[in-house]
Amino acid sequence: MRGIRLRKRFEELARLLFPRWKSERWSIQTSNGPSRCVGASGYCDRTHRAIYVYDGKDVTLAHEICHAVSTGGHGEPFLRALRQSAAKARAAGLTTLANELDAEVTGYEQARAERPTAADMYLDLHEAADDLPLAYPSSLIRAVARNHGYTASEFRKRYRRADAVAKSAWAKANERRKRSAERRQQLQRAAAGKEKS
Ligand SMILES: [Zn+2]
Repeated sequence: MRGIRLRKRFEELARLLFPRWKSERWSIQTSNGPSRCVGASGYCDRTHRAIYVYDGKDVTLAHEICHAVSTGGHGEPFLRALRQSAAKARAAGLTTLANELDAEVTGYEQARAERPTAADMYLDLHEAADDLPLAYPSSLIRAVARNHGYTASEFRKRYRRADAVAKSAWAKANERRKRSAERRQQLQRAAAGKEKS
């Protein structure tokens, strides 16, 4: 699903799940490569209010909308949004979507109950880099460590690649932001050109 149909479904779901959220201020597009997507099947650029999805599945759109209205990570604020979405979907008769969202909630709750793996922590660093545009790599480590109840030095001891991962997450997030800003400028220039002619 692309273009206008994707946009339409995105708006429908946004209205149903979070009626007060201003989805019209966000852009939605299919992603053409994994480099841009941090999550499983989509990516939410909260800085530029842009959502990218691999597929047009309702569950992907709903997941990214939940990031848009909460945070970039999969912590409690995000889970609250996910639970609320599942309930709204169920009430509206979208049973498949409701079941898929409930399954996601259960998955994230179980993952949190177990001790997070290094891979989880490194993914958190990537999500933090997208969420905190002004944070340097060391601040990303501090933020993620605090989220999980560690000090930065405890975190570094436990997750040995933390500094390398934070640095690369930071660089990649900045690159994405740069590309996204360039795209916006191109669109604005194209729109300005059309108005003149
Ligand atoms: Zn996610």
